[in-house]
Amino acid sequence: MNVDVAANLKKITDTLPQGVRLVAVSKFHPDEYVEAAYNAGQRVFGESHEQELSKKQQTLPDDIEWHFIGHLQTNKVKYIAPYISMIEAVDSLKLLKEINKHAAKHDRVIKVLLELHIAEEATKYGLTLDACRELLEAGEWRELHNVQICGLMMMASNVDDEDQIRREFNTAADFFDEVKARYFADDDAFCERSWGMSDDYQIAVQCRSTMVRVGTAIFGPRVY
Ligand SMILES: *Cc1c(COP(=O)(O)O)cnc(C)c1O
Repeated sequence: MNVDVAANLKKITDTLPQGVRLVAVSKFHPDEYVEAAYNAGQRVFGESHEQELSKKQQTLPDDIEWHFIGHLQTNKVKYIAPYISMIEAVDSLKLLKEINKHAAKHDRVIKVLLELHIAEEATKYGLTLDACRELLEAGEWRELHNVQICGLMMMASNVDDEDQIRREFNTAADFFDEVKARYFADDDAFCERSWGMSDDYQIAVQCRSTMVRVGTAIFGPRVY
């Protein structure tokens, strides 16, 4: 391992304002990288592929909080439902219902975030703001007692233009306030704003992120 994971972690956590949590994105990195971060005190890790995550979950320490941060196919929910700590990228009612079903089988309440599509790239997943409004307005989610919607997640466009990135984060932050007021005013659990990655987490925390998902800046480039 030619990356100083502990030093990279410290550099990042030292700059994060209080109240902002770090999700260390370990996808495509071997167990020893996770262990290095774990030994430096990191407990929250993000993965985006079910098989890779399930393998790591079986061998790595039990007190790791695993966040699923990628696009989750409904047929994969059952594999992670027993242990997943948070599913960050829920972008349909269908997926939400599937998570609820499997969480109930394990007598769990699984925390989730709704993923917004704000970036200009066409390839990314997520709910448009209108689709998110519709989902919440329809109200069926209120009957799903084995999922808890804890906030919103999004990715900014992968561009160099800082103003554009900032605009997108601010759009998400404003939208958070809108849905918080309308649907979650009495729900303290709805408090998370998951935005910011290696290249833009410093902008994200200026735009009210509560949770940054950082991979490359901790573990180095991924080898696919
Ligand atoms: C891979 C990934 C990250 C981390 O990206 P880095 O640029 O390596 O920090 C964050 N969020 C999501 C959803 C990802 O898929």
